[in-house]
Amino acid sequence: MRKIYFDHSATTPVDGEVAKLMLEYMTDKFGNPSSIHSFGRDVAKAVEKARAQVAGLIGANTNEIFFTDGGTEADNWAIKGIASANRKKGNHIITTTIEHHAILHTCEYLEKQGFDITYLPVDQYARVRVEDVKNAITDRTILISVMFANNEVGTLQPIKEIGQLAHQSNIYFHTDAVPAVGNYPIDVNEYNIDLLTLSGHKFHGPKGIGALYIRRCVRIDALHHGGAQERKMRAGTENVPGIVGVGKAAEIAQRDMEKKIAHVQALRDKLIKGIQEKISDIKLNGHPEMRLPGNINFCFSYVEGESLLLNLDIKGIAASTGSACASGSLDPSHVLLAMGLSHEVAQGSLRITLGRANTEEDINYCLKVLPEIVGRLRSMSPLSAFNKISESSPCNCYSYAK
Ligand SMILES: *Cc1c(COP(=O)(O)O)cnc(C)c1O
Repeated sequence: MRKIYFDHSATTPVDGEVAKLMLEYMTDKFGNPSSIHSFGRDVAKAVEKARAQVAGLIGANTNEIFFTDGGTEADNWAIKGIASANRKKGNHIITTTIEHHAILHTCEYLEKQGFDITYLPVDQYARVRVEDVKNAITDRTILISVMFANNEVGTLQPIKEIGQLAHQSNIYFHTDAVPAVGNYPIDVNEYNIDLLTLSGHKFHGPKGIGALYIRRCVRIDALHHGGAQERKMRAGTENVPGIVGVGKAAEIAQRDMEKKIAHVQALRDKLIKGIQEKISDIKLNGHPEMRLPGNINFCFSYVEGESLLLNLDIKGIAASTGSACASGSLDPSHVLLAMGLSHEVAQGSLRITLGRANTEEDINYCLKVLPEIVGRLRSMSPLSAFNKISESSPCNCYSYAK
């Protein structure tokens, strides 16, 4: 049977070149980068090369990249590290309702420690309004954290404008850019970013490695205390295979960026158009234009997302509802709810995230299988005789004219 992977926002396969390099740094080149002898020095050099490769991908200076054990750790560090280092200046943080749980749950933790958090709402396309950010700023605000692009519905945020606003008010600006880095061009200077989170396994690097970009002069507390690794900011012997792996993945992503975006975007547009032509009573979630090149997210009325996923899986297609971290729980996506969808409608969402290895045949196969599945599920649904999305839901999502 055909097997198709349509879940690149959950994770991606490690690039062959990346895996090869990692193996080398587990076997032959196994030294500890802190050792003074040649085994250590060679590895230390490789770590610094990887740092430069990651910096290059986002327009940063090499010494502004700090390796972490993934996106979640970098998010935790950014929020807690800024909070504790700047507490005297203020205790107010601004974020949004559609962040990844690595941000949301960290902010909830800080609330218990006496911080005030403003969770900004979003519009029907999951976009934050710059005006809302402006109005939320107080003289106690120390940090604004807004994700670069949403991992569920793909919507790109007005990052440049928010960054500008933050800087005018002397407030640090962090962005969780995990779904965007390696998949969309980012330059920390152009976008006025002070801190940025990235994760290797979302762009063909390994799992368990990520980085926090910290602009020079940003006041932030160390994450771990111990040895002098990562310039005393994150103690602990480096995950060398992971680091050289994410470095290589960054180099490849930067090299192939334009080609990859063009490829993935063309497939995305074909699939969106095809679904709209073949299936009625649907809504495209997220912004129609300002979205990640590989992201597709639809609501299908009268159909549960879980049933859709299982039936697609039987046909060899791997997709998701909401995000990988949210599925497994029965709660509907907090992102779709924040966009104004009802609980009932939010449960019927399907996320397809495309990658560089997907082909036109994959899209054609999906366009053959998906309408059959949706049709069959609808024919069994007790809801299908009534309750159209447009009538039952307060949301007013964008839908292309058919
Ligand atoms: C995947 C993801 C993370 C978590 O990264 P890990 O490396 O898996 O911990 C954080 N934020 C967003 C938006 C993500 O998509």
